Parts: sequence; C-alpha cells; structure tokens
Amino acid sequence: MDSIALLQRLVQIPSPNPPGDTRAIADFVAEQMRAIGCETRQLAPAEKPEALNTIAVLGAGEPRIMLHAHIDTVPIAATEAKKWSVDPYAGELRNGALYGKGSIDDKAPLASMMLTMMAAAQQDLLTGSLVLVAAAEEEVGGQLGTKWLADSGHLPACDFIIVGEQTGNKVATAHKGVMRATIRTTGVSVHATNPDRGVNAIVAMSKVISALDSYHRELSERVHPVVGSPTCNIGVIEGGSTANAVPDSCAIVLDRRMIPREEPEAVKAELRAVVESVDLAPATVAIGGFVYSSWFDSALDSGYANTFLDCARDVIKDDPGPVGYLPGSDAKHLMEVARGDMIIFGPGSYEVAHAADEHVTLADYQATTDILLNFVRRTLYVPSPIKN
Ligand SMILES: [Zn+2]
Repeated sequence: MDSIALLQRLVQIPSPNPPGDTRAIADFVAEQMRAIGCETRQLAPAEKPEALNTIAVLGAGEPRIMLHAHIDTVPIAATEAKKWSVDPYAGELRNGALYGKGSIDDKAPLASMMLTMMAAAQQDLLTGSLVLVAAAEEEVGGQLGTKWLADSGHLPACDFIIVGEQTGNKVATAHKGVMRATIRTTGVSVHATNPDRGVNAIVAMSKVISALDSYHRELSERVHPVVGSPTCNIGVIEGGSTANAVPDSCAIVLDRRMIPREEPEAVKAELRAVVESVDLAPATVAIGGFVYSSWFDSALDSGYANTFLDCARDVIKDDPGPVGYLPGSDAKHLMEVARGDMIIFGPGSYEVAHAADEHVTLADYQATTDILLNFVRRTLYVPSPIKN
C-alpha cells in the first residue's frame, strides 16, 4: 500500500470520540503491523472495552524509541457537518491535499509512523526496538487511553518518544497544563423592591471577577521560553433567576493554564488566596471543583533530540525549533515512561484540526514521513547507532 492509500484507508475508518469506539481502526493498525512482523498487542480498559489501543513492537531490546499517535478523532458537530465541502470520511484528494475528519489530527502522523515501521521492518540489522502506540481516548483527555496504558504497565520505558500532533513539522518540547475550578458566591435573596435588605451574590461575584482579572495580568510576568505565560480565563457565569429578586447565588467556572514547573497544588493555593483576598461580607465565597491535566516539558538535550532536530532541519529547510504546542496532548501521560527526551511532532497546524474541511497537504505529510525515516535510520539502523 502506498503512503496516500494508507492515509486514505485510515480516514475511511471513522473513529469519532464521543462515542470513542476505536476497535475498527485499532484492528486495521494491528493487522498492518502484524503483516510486517511486529509483535502486536491490543488492549482496552474494562470500563470502556470499545476504546481499543494497539501497541506494535519491532525489534528487541534497547535503545527503545516510541512513536505515538492517537486513533480517535473529534466528532462532527451538526453545525460543522453543513460546512464540509467533501465527504469527511472519503479521504478525497484535492489540490495537493488529502481531506477528511482526522486527516491531520491524527491520522497523517499515524500513517507516517506506520510507514516508518514498515521501512524499518525491511532492515535485517535493526539495533534496539521501535514501539508504535496507536492510542484511543486522546480527544477526551486520555484517561482511559494513554494514561491507562501507562499506569497499567503496558508501555515500556523509552529512550526517546515522539508524540504525533500538528507542529508544522517543527519540534515541540512543551505544552501547558490546565486547571479548572468553580467559584460560588452566596448571598440572601429578597424582593427587588428593597435590595438593601438582601445580599446580592452577583455583585459579590463582580468583585471576585476583578480580582481574578488582575491576577491574570500579574501572571504575564512568569514566562516559559517556549510556551509563554500562564493565564486565567473566566469562561462561564451563572446566577440569578429573575430581574425582580436579589440573587442569592452566583457561580463562575475558570480555566487557569499552567506553564511547565507550576505545581497544581501551588496553583490551587494561589487561586484560593486571590478569592479570599476579596472583602465580600456579608456574602460568602467558596472555590472548589478543581480538575486539572498536567503540562509537559522536555529538556531536549540528548543525542536523540539533536539528531531529530538535524533531520527536521534537513527536510523543512527552516529552523526546526524547539517550539511550544498550544493544545494539550497525550505527552503529559507519558512522562513516567520517558527516560530521555520526548517531543511533539507532525505535519500542519492544529488550527485546521477540529474543523470543517480538515486536510493535510501531501507535501507536509511526505516531509513528516521523511523526517521520521531519516531519524530512525540514523539511530536504529546498523551500523552507526548513536548513544544517548
Ligand atoms: Zn490530536
């Protein structure tokens, strides 16, 4: 199967999440990898047996390099469906690009990785091993996908990890984490004819909001070299039920982006301190409902990283980075199995993912494959393996 046919085939196997049934695409990847002689396992968590992952291993022992791509896609929303100009599951070619849901996110990186496995399988003398992880559940946070695989001991420790996402074929070494929290103010409800007898929870919340806005501005003083500054955004507000009553309750939901090295517990304490610094009496305020996902950061100081940067520079004829990656990725779940550097890498921009007429240019897709192939050739093919 040539590279275009392979990517078309992957796009033609829908894997929207929700519902997140990845059995058909995981089976296809497993079949292809078995055919080239990989040792292949298929695994799913008991809580969601249809979230099937495939792990394929070529070669044996060390050094061990992981190629990771997710096999689920976002679903096609009703409003988005009308905007597609092609069948989103046909894998149509047009003007040098391949169109389809999941074409760039994340089936092109997956296809490039499968092609790399196929090329490596033809080498008689591979030193070490290549591990392909085709992971479910990334689009809903990866808890029952990559995180489950890592926590259950299904992923071996690896000397270099490449997580396929959309980085314009540059090398991304960090992304932010995210903390969500809910803040609620409580007052006393009375009829609106005499508001001073009540305690207005919305007015109280307005003071909390301005404190959080100042906090957001102060955060710009913290700067990470590739991902920039932390942020605090208030994305939801709810309160009151009618204009003719003083509201006794108001709630906001906030999204606090964490840069690498910011500890979740310290960020929670900061948010608590901001909220508690506001004088709201006699209204009261509470913060809770914290959920977070971690940032990811890699030093990029190994021989593998330098070799990868060289391979990327050779193909894209541009500065290969390092750069930051704005969305999150499964990299955050792989930090425990990374005993060396980990990068995020793949064709195109995440801005064309998750939207109508998602596509990948064939030139970008080819460049991704070329870079991966050169990297594996220079690190795992005998002779001339490099040492970390
Ligand atoms: Zn993705």
